[in-house]
Amino acid sequence: MAAAVFASKRGDEVTVLEHNDRIGKKILQTGNGRCNLTNSTLEGPVHGNFSSLSPSGIRFCDDVIKRFGYKETLRFFKSLGLEFRQRGDLVYPKSDQASSVLDALRFALEELKVSVKTGIEVRSVKKEKDKGFIIKTDDGTFSCDRLIIAAGSKAAPQTGSDGSGYAIAESFGHRIERPMPALVPLKCKGDFFKSVSGVRCPVKLSLSDGDKVIYNESGELQYTQYGISGIVTMNISNRLHLCKKNAFVFIDHMENDSKDELCSMLMERRERFRNRSVKDLMTGVINKKLFEMLLKESGIDMNREVFLISDEEIKTLASHIKEFKIKIEGTMGFDHSQICMGGIDPVELDENMQSRIVPSLYFCGEIIDAHGDCGGYNLQLCWSTGAIAGSCGELEDIFL
Ligand SMILES: Cc1cc2nc3c(=O)[nH]c(=O)nc-3n(C[C@H](O)[C@H](O)[C@H](O)COP(=O)(O)OP(=O)(O)OC[C@H]3O[C@@H](n4cnc5c(N)ncnc54)[C@H](O)[C@@H]3O)c2cc1C
Repeated sequence: MAAAVFASKRGDEVTVLEHNDRIGKKILQTGNGRCNLTNSTLEGPVHGNFSSLSPSGIRFCDDVIKRFGYKETLRFFKSLGLEFRQRGDLVYPKSDQASSVLDALRFALEELKVSVKTGIEVRSVKKEKDKGFIIKTDDGTFSCDRLIIAAGSKAAPQTGSDGSGYAIAESFGHRIERPMPALVPLKCKGDFFKSVSGVRCPVKLSLSDGDKVIYNESGELQYTQYGISGIVTMNISNRLHLCKKNAFVFIDHMENDSKDELCSMLMERRERFRNRSVKDLMTGVINKKLFEMLLKESGIDMNREVFLISDEEIKTLASHIKEFKIKIEGTMGFDHSQICMGGIDPVELDENMQSRIVPSLYFCGEIIDAHGDCGGYNLQLCWSTGAIAGSCGELEDIFL
């Protein structure tokens, strides 16, 4: 939609083909229905929030953000009638409704007289000499002399992104980095998950490749029936491809206390609450269900009286609270993922998102192997690549 707006502003006659019965379905789900459309940290020069399977992906992100970034995005949406609301670094429409971001884009398309055809499934595309692109759909054939593929990924296929864009790109000779679910809850090994399912707690979560920690982030973790979720987990899932050995997470449930401080706290409470049950030792400090699970995993009988806990048991318990190690078995898959890693290697695109293989063929959005963490980074990449592809890189003339 962003690409269509920019292409139309450039003077192109634009048609949007969409197989759903409406455009922009995924936008409605973003940011828990509020649409976190960008992130103010993108105003700064260095961003560690991008990831890609292709070696060129992270630089690509930086390059497109430099050309059409945070400020340009706000200006663009303001020109379409949006005002903004910020929560920390995260930017939302002031209305707090994802539908208003979609409406703003839909109204712009209407005002620019872009032809939007819904319920049309693009099956294949060919380029014929002198005739341009021939697009075969389930409802006849379309032709055009410039084609922008913005078919998304395989993430959340219930919104329409079924991965069919990859096959079309491949038919033109593009190499696809194999899509894998990202920003996705993780399945983990352990039979204790049911007992803590639903518990949310502040943690420092570290991803480790074998025993080597390769990334960590602090935030709210959510235990689920099958493993872990929450924004920290989703961001960890964006780095899973960096693990060459077995992938583990270490969960620190009390980041602000060192292990020694925690041991002292446990010992002090052992004295103070001598006659309580062990399971009540940390009432008011750690979530009750979580503490019971950690006791169980530490092999400590939780129904004894507190004063019977040994120093050795306190050390084991402190290790479980501070360095709870869990093996990652996989992700919850495309159905539960917000984005896909993988897609078209940015190296096969020129700086205007045009294919280096097929002239006049452009790509934008998540189909490109360039992705971001939770926090508005992915939509930002969509607006950026969409604006650049739509305008053929002539942003200065159209917009800036
Ligand atoms: C639950 C959820 C929450 C999210 N929250 C945020 C957030 O708050 N902030 C953020 O930055 N990102 C968020 N994201 C990620 C963000 O929504 C996506 O990165 C972004 O929507 C991708 O845009 P796109 O245009 O590339 O693809 P899509 O939005 O998937 O659009 C592609 C369109 O192409 C259509 N299509 C595909 N193949 C065909 C075909 N063969 N023929 C016709 N039509 C076709 C699809 O139906 C679809 O409408 C979230 C994602 C999910 C699933």
